[in-house]
Amino acid sequence: MAYKVYFLTLGCKVNSYESAAIAKILSSKGFEETQDPSSCDVYVVNTCAVTAEADRKSRQMIRKARRVAPSAVVVAMGCHTEMCKDENGADITVGTSDRPALVPLLLEKLHLREQSETEEGAYDAGTRFFEYGAVLLQEGTRAVVKIEDGCNNFCTYCIIPYSRGRVRSRSREAVLEEIRDLAGKGYCEFVITGIHLCSYERELGHDSTALGELLNDVAKIEGVRRIRLGSLEPYSMSDKLISMLKENGKICPHFHLSLQSGSDTVLKRMNRKYDTALFREVVRKLRNAFPTASFTTDMICGFPGETEEEHKASCAFAEEIGFTHIHVFPFSPREGTKAFTMEDQITPDVKNRRTAELRAISDEMESARAKDFTGHTVEVLVEKVPEPGCFEGYCREYIRVLGTCNSGDLVPGEILYCKVNVTDGFTLRGEGFRELTP
Ligand code: SF4
Repeated sequence: MAYKVYFLTLGCKVNSYESAAIAKILSSKGFEETQDPSSCDVYVVNTCAVTAEADRKSRQMIRKARRVAPSAVVVAMGCHTEMCKDENGADITVGTSDRPALVPLLLEKLHLREQSETEEGAYDAGTRFFEYGAVLLQEGTRAVVKIEDGCNNFCTYCIIPYSRGRVRSRSREAVLEEIRDLAGKGYCEFVITGIHLCSYERELGHDSTALGELLNDVAKIEGVRRIRLGSLEPYSMSDKLISMLKENGKICPHFHLSLQSGSDTVLKRMNRKYDTALFREVVRKLRNAFPTASFTTDMICGFPGETEEEHKASCAFAEEIGFTHIHVFPFSPREGTKAFTMEDQITPDVKNRRTAELRAISDEMESARAKDFTGHTVEVLVEKVPEPGCFEGYCREYIRVLGTCNSGDLVPGEILYCKVNVTDGFTLRGEGFRELTP
């Protein structure tokens, strides 16, 4: 009888990808994935450490795994466990640098040691990209492909360089092979992800055009129609890279450019490697290259020492850029980072008030952005067909679209066009059709 394995994944897309990768390896060993945690033999908690709250939740979920599946082997992996390996109460603990050891350790625990040789050979202690082979992580009709791990930047608030280690890149052949495989299965939209995408092949001495070259090769694969990029660092967006993205032809005009603060003095304290002038310039160049582009970002409110003026400057800059959406986080001190010990920590009340103010600005910009599309035609990748003649999906600019279409049966995964008649909050609504007429 096959062992049943249950996954509980916290945190980012990279974590989801890695859970899918481990699931794939276990499946090749005869394990079956289950959605019922109470009946599993192996309960994997893939943890996150991005904020103190994520740490707390990771600990809580490991305890919950014990409760829900008392006879299962509890496995803890991911960023949180990298930082505190000895104190989580799981049966097997691996972090991010030694996660290739997970499968051999698990097989040993289950007395399947003889199956573990391949994984032992692949153990790399975090110095090179761990190659899982082709992994299928789908987000609806999109497939997520990881190309890079780690970061060399050491922003003062971030634990990632400590928890995931330095930049290491996946080989171009492996990325292309995975995408060929997924395109052959019918996927046409690919989300290219990593911890620090623009650092792709940095350890080989390459600049950010290496990413542009990889994306050009991806675009040539038969069946690839859309390429979305994960979070990008503004200072890596060179003129050359922007022109490569434009020439590529398959890049979606949606850029998640990590801002963190719109105040130059706060950016300096965060050890970010750009200022607002550079950010503004990059947005201008990207808008020139992609006139309909959406910009999303992450911002932190209440970084240590943030004054009311700095907060106002941050809000004003966000409005000036005109983001489609801002993921706003109150600053959360992470032990082991420089910001943890900085003076002038902001009180929770002030952090929460500033977070609410910036979120309100984000909501306003998001509805205004949706309204810009009224009367225009957008291209939609159909993700759901809730009832005959109706579809849901996202346009290339990454805005949700709901529509009706009466020309034949609709199928998730197909591309439609939609004339936007009206907006409903952050959603576009309109009528779909299959062919664009000149
Ligand atoms: S760039 Fe900064 S925020 Fe992003 S992963 Fe690296 S250290 Fe963390």
